[in-house]
Amino acid sequence: MCGIVAYLGHKQAYPILINGLKRLEYRGYDSAGVALMQENGISLYKCRGKVSELEDYCSDKNTTSTMGIAHTRWATHGEPNDQNAHPHLSEDGKLALIHNGIVENYLVLKQELISRGYKFKSNTDTEVLVHLIQDIYKSEQVTELAEAVRLALLNVVGTYAIAILSADNPDELIVAKKGSPLLIGIGKDDYFVASDGAPIVEYTKRVVYLEDEEVAVLNLNKKLEIKNINSEAKKRAYVQKLELNLEQLEKGGFEHYMLKEIFEQPKAISDSMRGRVNTKKDVVSLGGIIEYEEKMLNAKRFIIAACGTSWHAGLCGEYLFENLVRVPVEVEYASEFRYRNPIINEDDVLIAISQSGETADTIAAVELAKSKGATVIGICNVVGSTLSRLTHAGSYTHAGPEIGVASTKAFTAQVTVLALMALCLARKKGKLSLSKYHQIINDLENIPEKITEILKLNDSIKEIAKYCADKRNAIYLGRGINYPVALEGALKLKEISYIHAEGYPAAEMKHGPIALVDEEMPVIVIATEQETYEKVVSNIQEVIARKGKIISIVSEGDTQVKKMSDFCIEIPRTEELLTPLVASVPLQLLAYHVALLRGCDVDKPRNLAKSVSVE
Ligand code: GLU
Repeated sequence: MCGIVAYLGHKQAYPILINGLKRLEYRGYDSAGVALMQENGISLYKCRGKVSELEDYCSDKNTTSTMGIAHTRWATHGEPNDQNAHPHLSEDGKLALIHNGIVENYLVLKQELISRGYKFKSNTDTEVLVHLIQDIYKSEQVTELAEAVRLALLNVVGTYAIAILSADNPDELIVAKKGSPLLIGIGKDDYFVASDGAPIVEYTKRVVYLEDEEVAVLNLNKKLEIKNINSEAKKRAYVQKLELNLEQLEKGGFEHYMLKEIFEQPKAISDSMRGRVNTKKDVVSLGGIIEYEEKMLNAKRFIIAACGTSWHAGLCGEYLFENLVRVPVEVEYASEFRYRNPIINEDDVLIAISQSGETADTIAAVELAKSKGATVIGICNVVGSTLSRLTHAGSYTHAGPEIGVASTKAFTAQVTVLALMALCLARKKGKLSLSKYHQIINDLENIPEKITEILKLNDSIKEIAKYCADKRNAIYLGRGINYPVALEGALKLKEISYIHAEGYPAAEMKHGPIALVDEEMPVIVIATEQETYEKVVSNIQEVIARKGKIISIVSEGDTQVKKMSDFCIEIPRTEELLTPLVASVPLQLLAYHVALLRGCDVDKPRNLAKSVSVE
């Protein structure tokens, strides 16, 4: 959550910062701001709204500068308004600070600072940081700003990625992090700082991932200096190659990132399988987990911890693992798991799933499981992310950057990787016959082509969206592995169109939600060919009897459900366990078109942000 960008060099900083903020806007977009180092000190421009509004606001301002910091906010403390927007200034106006994260003990710190005469201009937790740093910097014993920052951070409980400008040190930029991501891009004769690689990639591919509790001093006249919070200097910053391409960050002719990402799914799934499936040798090899394969094969239980859409992928994983590997699986909301004093044993394997690899709750679940001696495997999309560095082993989804806030291709890529993991373990444990294995692998390899077929239905799905666009509620039903598909379909609709939607196991409907069904209620049923098909047919009858409108997703050639439906989407047949990979696609398109018809900002839905790096 929240995007941080900073620049120090010889180029004009403002365009770099604004472009960078636009690239990070998926992380938060309720307000934005920039602080620039200028001849007469620090100039601060900030306002409520999106980055384009900040740009308008700055259009008549002097933005000449070669050094600055910028922020796009996702409010945690204090409503989104001009005062609460970052950067925040110290009282003397000499320090400007941006922050991603939460200062959990901010009230105590704030009280103390108020009692010492500090006046607060915002309701944010962040503002305490800038006053605290100034307070320490003012004291005679502390001569260097970086030292003041370090001492201030010793008092902070919570998470932070921060960047600080100081009018007294116009050559120096200070950054620090704990629990929120921060990268330093090393240019020829300049530095870039950002929450992820997107704002940096067009300038340099050489990056340093700052570690937790490190403070770095960026100064063009000196070597990059990194110390940890205990004042121990890092001998050498580890410079890595940024795995990102500029083209991946553009919309490529599509109206929205979300639509582009829906259409990229055939490629995302192929890329996630590439090099991992060897049909000749009859094995799936996931290079990233090889060293821990033994642990996975001997696991007594798998715990899948995730949030949001990744949690839905985890539910699909449960069906895949239990069916194929025959080991019990529990799927946990990472946020609940960590606070529940869960029972974790050394022979448990925790699989943590997160698109960004920065999801705070998932990271905390990983830390907890590790502390109890469990093996921790990660599935994430961002190379070099916190999750990828924290887990014992893992597999990347190779979906490419996902920028639309509502996750689409990351979901199907996650399910693909879970399917590969399940197939790999099932074969090695002798739980899966070679012929069944071949059949599933064959179906998996055909998925991209089948999705390409489904994408051709885009126009007809648009027509169905017209029916849904003025509705206030919707119910999504599915059984077996189509139940998580129903949940994910409902989540997509509510996230981007703000229509209230519930996903339910079809048979559960009669235990409650059926009370909501009337002629105004669209009921979206995933009724593909599966073991429970006939049961789903009965559930549809129950809806029709109450005048609900049926929108069904069925297997190609279906006649029974088709006849019962008001609208019907036919999708290619596949192995039942792989249905989420195809059935979720029309639901993504449906949500997209409904949101568009309702005039919603599809890529930046209200109140949401991607990469949820706060608890
Ligand atoms: N907690 C800070 C605020 O509410 C920063 C939130 C963020 O990461 O955007 O201003």
